Amino acid sequence: MTLRFTSLGSGSSGNALVVESGKTRVMMDCGFTIAETQCRLERAGLESCDLAGIVVTHEHDDHLGGVARFARRHAIPVYLTRGTAQSLPEDFPAVLVRYIDSHTPFAIEALAIEPFPVPHDAREPVQFAFSDGAARLGVVTDLGCITQHVVDKLTGCEALVIECNHDLDMLMGGPYPVGLKQRVAGRFGHLDNTVAGQLVESLERSRLKHLIAAHLSQQNNTPQLARRALARAAGCEEAWIGVATQSDGFDWREA
Ligand SMILES: [Zn+2]
Ligand SMILES: [Zn+2]
Repeated sequence: MTLRFTSLGSGSSGNALVVESGKTRVMMDCGFTIAETQCRLERAGLESCDLAGIVVTHEHDDHLGGVARFARRHAIPVYLTRGTAQSLPEDFPAVLVRYIDSHTPFAIEALAIEPFPVPHDAREPVQFAFSDGAARLGVVTDLGCITQHVVDKLTGCEALVIECNHDLDMLMGGPYPVGLKQRVAGRFGHLDNTVAGQLVESLERSRLKHLIAAHLSQQNNTPQLARRALARAAGCEEAWIGVATQSDGFDWREA
């Protein structure tokens, strides 16, 4: 069996990623409307009923915004920390809630899922690593800085999806108000290209087959800059680095 994954879209206007092993498919975050999610799933050759669960990283709208309505409509269980769950609508059916602990691995059918805490300005944010027993995919899309724990969880993966939110010069020279610039660049904000590169550099990469830049700011970054930073860090061709876009995410890849 192979571990496959695809992004339905990535960025501050909405995120969703699907991981598949055999017949098990799990969605990570859903920041899109029901119609938009449906449409993006179809583009990936999937239907809503194919999903065994939705795992949620944190309560920001671009991650949690579409989860409750979509999960409810299709009766899909939602896996999230108690901190994140505080932002579910009050009338969300308890029967669909699966609380997770940010340090405790769990499984959804054939997929082993490891949550890990990250520094980000949310109540109890986590990111995830997925494994089918043979290959491992690590995803980090919202974190303000690198911790040793994050490095430990992402090291040795076959596939990595890593936040390259902004280019620091573009952010600082750009139109955002000062307070927002500080929030984004702060230790509980988002990774810039350079720090994303440092993260990649610090990982054991002998098994790495996919390296994808994600959650790019449309205002403060370009795919070229993100690609260049990760390619330099990984010591590979820029063309080898994938970029997840807001409109299309990225196509299926096999880990
Ligand atoms: Zn986000
Ligand atoms: Zn966030």
